[in-house]
Amino acid sequence: QKEESKDRIEMKRYFASEISPEELEAVLKRPSQKSSNMIMGIVNPIIKAVKEEGDKALLGYTQKFDRCPNLESTVLKAPYPEGLMTISPEVKAAIDLSYENIYKFHAAQKEAKPLEVETMPGVKCSRFARPVERVGLYIPGGTAVLPSTALMLGVPAMVAGCKTIVFASPPRPDGSITPEIVYIAHKVGAEAIVLAGGAQAVAALAYGTESVPKVDKILGPGNQFVTAAKMVVSNDTGATVSIDMPAGPSEVLVIADKTSNPAFVASDLLSQAEHGVDSQVVLIAVDMSKEMLQDIDDQLHAQAMALPRVDIVRGAIDHSVTVVVDSIERAFEVSNLYAPEHLILQIQDAKACVEKVQNAGSVFIGPWTPESVGDYSAGVNHSLPTYGYAKQYSGVNLATYVKHITSSELSAEGLQNLGNAVMDLAAVEGLDAHRMAVKIRLDHMKTSK
Ligand code: NAD
Repeated sequence: QKEESKDRIEMKRYFASEISPEELEAVLKRPSQKSSNMIMGIVNPIIKAVKEEGDKALLGYTQKFDRCPNLESTVLKAPYPEGLMTISPEVKAAIDLSYENIYKFHAAQKEAKPLEVETMPGVKCSRFARPVERVGLYIPGGTAVLPSTALMLGVPAMVAGCKTIVFASPPRPDGSITPEIVYIAHKVGAEAIVLAGGAQAVAALAYGTESVPKVDKILGPGNQFVTAAKMVVSNDTGATVSIDMPAGPSEVLVIADKTSNPAFVASDLLSQAEHGVDSQVVLIAVDMSKEMLQDIDDQLHAQAMALPRVDIVRGAIDHSVTVVVDSIERAFEVSNLYAPEHLILQIQDAKACVEKVQNAGSVFIGPWTPESVGDYSAGVNHSLPTYGYAKQYSGVNLATYVKHITSSELSAEGLQNLGNAVMDLAAVEGLDAHRMAVKIRLDHMKTSK
């Protein structure tokens, strides 16, 4: 009996009405990450070595960390040999279908035309978009191969019109790349796949090496080494590279009520718990009976025990929680406070409740929308902000690959209308050359009349 309860996979349960706001915040804390000092201590020397020694260091780290001692090349260049893209017809069809949906949803995000506003007579302001020219897309590959991430990052890059698309992904021990990833690289027009992972891959993309093209922006999720390296290179003015967002271990928050199906709820919680032991899942149960809560717990345990990744699930569930609340309003208060990467609404009138969502990466509405559809095929992007960053970051979308440029165009009348204000403000700031650049023109207009 004792042994059984020790082995049971179960989330801790709290009643929001019985704990203080401070306790609630503590309950919802993400699992602690390795100290950033420790990670930086590992990542900084790797970045320095790749920056200084290029391919030699890149190859050395890949041989060491990805356990492929016989690897000879750092990059696979397009066109990719057919033999490296051999996949089953079913998987090919699944990739093709997902590609189409992701393409459609991201193509619809294109801005139809530049924004133009005449702020006052003769003063025209405009804003137009241009793609980031060279993007490096990190496809994680340490604990699981993730061709879906190749799709989620590659398709919008192609839609946006990025000129150079480079993939980076850790090779398998025999030095090869998963054929699904090579096929997707081919489909989105990636010119190369860097056979490397971790901080060394990020550094190679940021600075360039003899074989790896330098990029302007690095996108993609990864483990703590990848995330830390992205932070380091984006702060180095010597690299002039930007990043998408700090993305960490996956998480989900499910809001469920009496109308939910306990088996569905449990399956959604588990689909994120299987990502990694550092993942976290949260259930907000609205006004739910003890029996139904028990039912969800039983489902979770039974379904988890049948999963091949049960050990990972056990680790994630260890720091996952159920919070019972008494109203839907309170449920959304808690959810907005947590700011989940994925938010699943398995509640009555789920669609109508979307207006209550303030902070979330991506929302899944109603009983027929498991989060997995967004991970792969629906069309929405799965590269999303974690760790509460949904409060200030968007997930990857077309705008992530685009920068906006503004322009202004004044007629002589426009400069006459605006000139005095500009000269007065330039005088306040003591910037006389600014003031003169206006005055010289206004004087010219007067004399040439
Ligand atoms: P990864 O590709 O991110 O990391 C593997 C690399 O880490 C290796 O190639 C190696 O270079 C490096 N590494 C491993 N141990 C090291 C060490 N001791 N010292 C230095 N470098 C080391 O793959 P992963 O580890 O499987 O992590 C993937 C992560 O991405 C998971 O946490 C997953 O949850 C997350 N993810 C997030 C999203 C999202 O949208 N937020 C999507 C997919 C995956």
